[in-house]
Parts: sequence; C-alpha cells; structure tokens
Amino acid sequence: LETSLLRFVRDLKNNQTDEPPPPSEVTVIDFCNALDAGDITLAYQPKLTVQGLILRGVEALARWKHPQKGNISPGVFIPLAERHGLIDTLTRELLQKAFKQKQAWQQMGLRFHIAFNLSPLSLADAGLSDWLADLAQEYSIPPDEITLEVTENALLGELACAIRTLARLRLKGFNIAIDDYGTGFANAQQLSRVPATELKIDRSLIHQVATRPQQGTILASTVDLAKNLKLITVAEGVETLEDYRILVDLGVDQVQGFYFSKPLYPDDLLEWIKSGLSKIRRQVHGK
Ligand code: C2E
Ligand code: MG
Ligand code: MG
Ligand code: MG
Repeated sequence: LETSLLRFVRDLKNNQTDEPPPPSEVTVIDFCNALDAGDITLAYQPKLTVQGLILRGVEALARWKHPQKGNISPGVFIPLAERHGLIDTLTRELLQKAFKQKQAWQQMGLRFHIAFNLSPLSLADAGLSDWLADLAQEYSIPPDEITLEVTENALLGELACAIRTLARLRLKGFNIAIDDYGTGFANAQQLSRVPATELKIDRSLIHQVATRPQQGTILASTVDLAKNLKLITVAEGVETLEDYRILVDLGVDQVQGFYFSKPLYPDDLLEWIKSGLSKIRRQVHGK
C-alpha cells in the first residue's frame, strides 16, 4: 500500500509539473464579460504645475483586474477592444465613469481638470463631439475642464479626418492634448495644423534627462516649438527630483509621473491630495 501510495503521489506531482501553465492571455470573451460586469475602471494620475506644484488635473487611465488572471494592462486590452470593434463601447462607458467622478469631485469643491485618452479609432466616430457635449451638460461639467488626449501617431494616418473631429471638439470647448510626443514622426507643419491646446512630451524623452545632455537639447527645442505653437507643455514620466529640476529650467508648464504619484483610485487620490502633495512640496523645496 505504501509504495502504491508513494507512486500515486509521485505521479500526481509529475502530472502537475507536466501540465502547461494556465492560459494567462485574455480573450475577447473575457473582455466582454468584464465590460458587462463593470470590471474595467479608471485610475487617476495627478498633473501638477511646475511652478508651485499645484494640482492642475488628473489623467484617467483604464484599469482591469481580472478575477483569475490578475491585472491586465491597457496596453493589452485597448488594442484587443480596437481589433474587435469594441473600442467605442469601452470609450463611451469609461467617459461616463470619468464625468460622473468629476461631478462627484466638483460637489466636494475640487475643481481640477480631467484628461481622457481617445483611441485613434474614436476620431472616426462622427457622433463623438455631440455625444460628449451632451454628457458634459448632463453632469454639469465645463468642457474646458476636460482634455482629450490623442497620440501623435493617431494624427499621422487620417490627418484630415482626425483634424475635423478634433476641431469639432474644440468648438464645443474641450481641450485637446497631443500625447506621447516624440515617439512618432509628426513634423512641425503637421503639428501646427492640429487644433491642440497641449503637448505631452513622451517619457522616453524625459527619462534620465539629467544624465543625458543630448536629450536636454532635444527637449529644449521641443519646448520651444510648443511655445511657438501656443501649446501648454506637459512632461510625462517624471520619475526623479533631478528630472523635475531640469524641466523647471526648461520652462515646461506641467509635470506628471511616478515621482509625484502613480495613477490612483479615487479614495487614494483624496488621501494624496490631503497629505501626499504637501510631502512632495516639502521634498522639492528641501524642507
Ligand atoms: P499614456 O496615455 O501615455 O499614459 C501614461 C502611461 O504612463 C500610463 O500607463 C501611466 O501609468 C504611465 N506612467 C505615468 N507616469 C510614469 C512614470 O513616471 N514612469 C513610467 N515608467 N510610467 C509612467 P498605463 O496606465 O499602463 O497606460 C498605457 C497607455 O494605454 C496609455 O498611455 C494610453 O495610451 C493607453 N490608455 C490607458 N487608458 C486608456 C483609455 O481609457 N482609453 C484609451 N484609448 N487608451 C488608454
Ligand atoms: Mg495619455
Ligand atoms: Mg503619454
Ligand atoms: Mg503612452
């Protein structure tokens, strides 16, 4: 009996190790279930003024915690939604969540802006600007406290079509940010045709700027270009105090990054506003 029991246990163990790991990839079915269950939510990352470190706005970032498969990155599920024609559904659902949250903050007396990322595919959604304007009205949100972010690369494909949608959004009073600037190949002329209000410099240009002098040169000319186009400049991915200090010298308007805060869920954001922010101010001012 003992040997057969041992063999049984050994076989069981072998079986377990021979088994392929459970599939960790999410499917479109998982995604649909998550949409139905409301499992896709938003975290908010602070955007601060360089001068005075005042909370100017937050960027809403999609989050999905799968009950078995854990946290799924938006870098995975946004493209999945795009491939399966589900991005407009997701976008509208998340925009509704973001506006509802903004209204709740407004009712608490908090008046910072919200930025929201639009898929390049959403720029082909002709009804988007009217829908958004109605939504803003429904939640009593001034459109000029909303920024819509589109990546530089989204502007390269169907530039004429993208510009039309963005111009409509601008007419309704929404702000437009060009996201991830520096990762694509938009030239100054293309950039000048986009009715944008803000330029977000990609973190690949910011990262380790303190130790890479060439990067400082590229950054300086980018900030210069943005200023000439009357765009607000925002540096993304600021991870260290050294990076921040260089951005101050370069005359960047706003900063966002892990040095100040990770993307936070609403309760944690309130906590950060209460205590985290002043801690950072003390740190920056050496007090
Ligand atoms: P993004 O719009 O450029 O957002 C900034 C990304 O950089 C976020 O990643 C954020 O967590 C990360 N980040 C912020 N500060 C730092 C830092 O200091 N260091 C580093 N290493 N990373 C930092 P996340 O949340 O994973 O989002 C990735 C991308 O997915 C976003 O890039 C955006 O393009 C897209 N995305 C996220 N949410 C949505 C959404 O609701 N709709 C659409 N269409 N796209 C979204
Ligand atoms: Mg963004
Ligand atoms: Mg970005
Ligand atoms: Mg990005």
